[in-house]
Amino acid sequence: CIPDRTNLCSNRILAAIPPDHHVDSSDNTLLSLETLSLGGYLSFHDNYHAAKDFGNTYHFLPLAVLHPKSVSDISSTIKYIFEMGSGSDLTVAARGHAHSLQGQAQAHQGIVINMESLEEPEMQVYTGELPYADVSGGHLWIDILHETLRHGLAPKSWTDYLYLTVGGTLSYAGISGQAFKHGPQIDNVYQLEVVTGKGEVVTCSENQNADLFHGVLGGLGQFGIITRARISLEPAPKMVKWIRVLYSDFSLFSKDQEYLLSSQNSFDYIEGFVMINRTGLLNNWRSSFNPKDPHQASQFSSDGRTLYCLEIAKYFYQGDHTDIINQTERLLSELSYIPSTLFLSEVSYVEFLDRVHVSEKKLRAKGLWEVPHPWLNLFVPKSKIIKFNEEVFGNILTDATSGPILIYPVNTSKWSNKTSLVTPDEDIIYLVAFLSSAVPSSTGKDGLQHILNRNQKILDYCATNPLGIKQYLPHYSTREEWKAHFGPKWQAFLQRKSAYDPLAILAPGQRIFKKAK
Ligand code: FAD
Repeated sequence: CIPDRTNLCSNRILAAIPPDHHVDSSDNTLLSLETLSLGGYLSFHDNYHAAKDFGNTYHFLPLAVLHPKSVSDISSTIKYIFEMGSGSDLTVAARGHAHSLQGQAQAHQGIVINMESLEEPEMQVYTGELPYADVSGGHLWIDILHETLRHGLAPKSWTDYLYLTVGGTLSYAGISGQAFKHGPQIDNVYQLEVVTGKGEVVTCSENQNADLFHGVLGGLGQFGIITRARISLEPAPKMVKWIRVLYSDFSLFSKDQEYLLSSQNSFDYIEGFVMINRTGLLNNWRSSFNPKDPHQASQFSSDGRTLYCLEIAKYFYQGDHTDIINQTERLLSELSYIPSTLFLSEVSYVEFLDRVHVSEKKLRAKGLWEVPHPWLNLFVPKSKIIKFNEEVFGNILTDATSGPILIYPVNTSKWSNKTSLVTPDEDIIYLVAFLSSAVPSSTGKDGLQHILNRNQKILDYCATNPLGIKQYLPHYSTREEWKAHFGPKWQAFLQRKSAYDPLAILAPGQRIFKKAK
């Protein structure tokens, strides 16, 4: 039935793949769905793609896929299901670019809305003192980048990878190396248009329907489908000085990262990653980075040590090169990295932002992109990061991993706490992302089950030594776990659900609420 069924190699994985559903003339629900007057269309067959996502382990076949042309197609479909009341168990999942990890954009025997086919609004860029772009919830960030650059502008806050939709990242947060300065993407939105779980089309912002606005941002798709977003823009840099330096001492690495968060004229982007037992890595970098001192760099040997790479970038605008170079050199002189490991590169702004796409193309060429991705993303409070590092990188993860491990701090004191996003209760928190790929049929260390077990060990360690950690892109299976995840925000989350999606029609793949029948 489904082409990649063989990927489902673990009992732990929910494999709800019903046989292909054919529309039965006695099925009144489907027949009446077909009578909906739509500019776009509903497809009832060959919807296997809608049972697939980047995680590549959860596969739920929908009953139908809606390819909307307009917001009214989305609103009338949801209104229709809402009006059927509890007589129907149909649910609706917006599907952005389906880069979810555990079926969050899928709807078992429900309706999946293919957001990328939404044709309105056409992207519009407004220049002026507070520039912004009006975009559709189904637009990809890469397209927004190219369109805004035509006006010399660009969004302020990004994700590391740009082939994700606006609605998809705003349902979580949208975090990258600019978030310490500008907040995540959800803090850089002026206004949204949302179709609620009742089918109502509502415009919302800080000043208009603010409860819905805050609820939807980071709201895991629970309160409405984002059909339009007004994204704040800034003048776009032309070039980027992109720098990597290495540390073998975690406390020096994290001290420098935190120092840079609050420095004057600091970098525009701050991230970092962990390298476990990666020999030859510096050679790989040579294609895009040049060592500042090639002779010293050639003497450097990692000796199988765990190393920490600080990755920083400084943006260049027209005519300010000397100042920027001086600021960069001053900041670098204040850091404690291993001197022979300073690597530099200068690239265009687009090349810098679209850097993960280069890796995607290489992995696709080797058939290594569409494999299972058992990712784990955590927010760790600053006060616990040293302990976390000792246990996780000292004891649990001692072998090289297939896939990067990101680790960088952000200053959440500047982030809005009104959104649905949940973070640990400290001003500085670290994003730690274990971005593993599994070899499909392997039962060894690079296999799915081994990586899932290792992720679980990390989660168990966090739970038994309460570190106040929160999952980013959270994934839980019980109501109790969700309640604990949201903590003090749980009551507001429940209230918003009953106000905007009382029948629990939306985003069933998050497995927070179940539609009552
Ligand atoms: P989908 O997977 O299609 O949907 C995700 C969820 O949002 C689902 O529940 C879906 O129903 C809901 N949804 C989708 N569209 C809408 C809408 N219009 N309105 C309401 N709900 C909607 N995240 C970061 O923060 N920073 C990163 O640097 C980062 N890098 C990534 C790199 C890769 C290679 C991948 C695969 C993911 C990365 N992510 C990152 C995670 C990413 O932000 C989320 O997975 C995001 O949801 C992907 O967007 P999407 O369009 O694929 O969403």
